[in-house]
Amino acid sequence: MSDCIFCNIVAGKIPSAKVHEDEWTLAFMDIGEVNPGHVLVTVKPHVENIYGLDDRHAAAVFQTAARVARAVKTAYAPGGITLYQANGPAAGQTVYHFHLHIVPRYDKDGMRLTWPAKNPPREQLEENAARLRAAFD
Ligand code: AMP
Ligand code: ZN
Repeated sequence: MSDCIFCNIVAGKIPSAKVHEDEWTLAFMDIGEVNPGHVLVTVKPHVENIYGLDDRHAAAVFQTAARVARAVKTAYAPGGITLYQANGPAAGQTVYHFHLHIVPRYDKDGMRLTWPAKNPPREQLEENAARLRAAFD
């Protein structure tokens, strides 16, 4: 995809601060970091979001993420690390080439995701699970 910013980063046509690269993934610094050490792990082929990830790339992304997280912990010793991954506009995705954020976290660092828990009855949870089992491929 010639007009995709992350395809251009993978191809080396747009500069990035690379952290790690292997056959399937590239990890580089987020230009709009929330905290120092904020890394994006992306897959090399153009895949818009998680729906298009094959098993090999899905596994490779998490393997790279775990390695990057350990490096972030060693290098920055943050109070915590949040993994954030958006699919589609309602989820807040802004770049449509799959990527996973690895964000070092600190107390009161201002990063916020509100979590409006509904706590439905057990029967509702069973119904939801059955619906998803039926949709599984
Ligand atoms: P999302 O909103 O989850 O799709 O995240 C997209 C992320 O890509 C944002 O955090 C941006 O700061 C980051 N980003 C956009 N362009 C670049 C770039 N050229 N180099 C590094 N990160 C980028
Ligand atoms: Zn792309």
